[in-house]
Amino acid sequence: MHRRQFIQWSALGIPAISWKGFNKQQVAGNKPLVISTWDAGIAANSAAWKVLRSGGRALDAVEKGVMVTEASQNCCVGLGANPDRDGYVTLDACIMDEHANCGSVAFLERIKHPISVARRVMEKTPHVMLVGSGAQQFAIAEGFPLESGKLSEEAEKTYRNWLKKSEYKPVINIERSGIPMASTVPNRLPNGEWNHDTIGMIALDAQGNLSGSCTTSGMGFKMRGRLGDSPIIGAGLFVDNEIGAATATGQGEDIIRICGSHLVVENMRNGMNPENACKAAVERIVSVKGAAKCKEIQIGFIAINKQGQYGGYCLQKGFNFAVCYADDQNFLVDGKFILS
Ligand code: ASP
Repeated sequence: MHRRQFIQWSALGIPAISWKGFNKQQVAGNKPLVISTWDAGIAANSAAWKVLRSGGRALDAVEKGVMVTEASQNCCVGLGANPDRDGYVTLDACIMDEHANCGSVAFLERIKHPISVARRVMEKTPHVMLVGSGAQQFAIAEGFPLESGKLSEEAEKTYRNWLKKSEYKPVINIERSGIPMASTVPNRLPNGEWNHDTIGMIALDAQGNLSGSCTTSGMGFKMRGRLGDSPIIGAGLFVDNEIGAATATGQGEDIIRICGSHLVVENMRNGMNPENACKAAVERIVSVKGAAKCKEIQIGFIAINKQGQYGGYCLQKGFNFAVCYADDQNFLVDGKFILS
């Protein structure tokens, strides 16, 4: 029922309880709940859900969840991902809990689970961010094995292909293109391309607490040393346990410019539901960058609020996110978009 209908119905003597009932339905959400970016989110959500359904903490869920994606060699997150333009895979990740504790690592090489190193930074150091060789040194001291620096087979092929032109020209929604792979490989589009590069995950646990994680190899063939939004608290991820949580994917430079995930949470604080909060942040990007330039990029936000409502929005068609709130409810939602 729409508001106008309600007003008309009220005028006809239908009691106000209808409108109250409608309102309640609109705010009712799901608890526990976990959502994450792109279709790799389905497998990641399953792992997170195991933690949530047994009453576990959202923080543990969002770490365990994205570790699945990081470990997948068939994916554009983690050590199997595309390298930078010099041929090195460099990883960025951050994590944030219900007490506004946060930890982050960036430009980290040869460590399989950057998200777990980010959590250790949060829990074991007086700092929020560690980068580069310092982050790697800390990881090794914490017992994380140093992996080989060799590219995965798929990344090696993609990189060799890329070297022919050596052009930094990210293609929206597509991370690894033109590489023939088995059709059973997850996250592969029907035309043989990969469609994502980052997993951002946010969760609400049975106790009503929120946490989030975000992990990526960044934009493929970036300049050496480049960081995007994903390891930056407020840009790639933000959690406010009173209000909600948000995470981002896509062109990191433009997400940073508007402090994207923080903006989404502030929009929710100002009364928007998660979907509208994400939409308003995407609109802000369009107003800062201009619609014409926005056609060349993709950005997607997803958000949940304290009531267990969820939503997402993106610049253009092609972004999706995975939502899970029951053993048999783990599904993909196509992001609504503002450019056509
Ligand atoms: N946001 C990531 C970055 O800019 C990339 C992505 O999500 O595709 O590094």
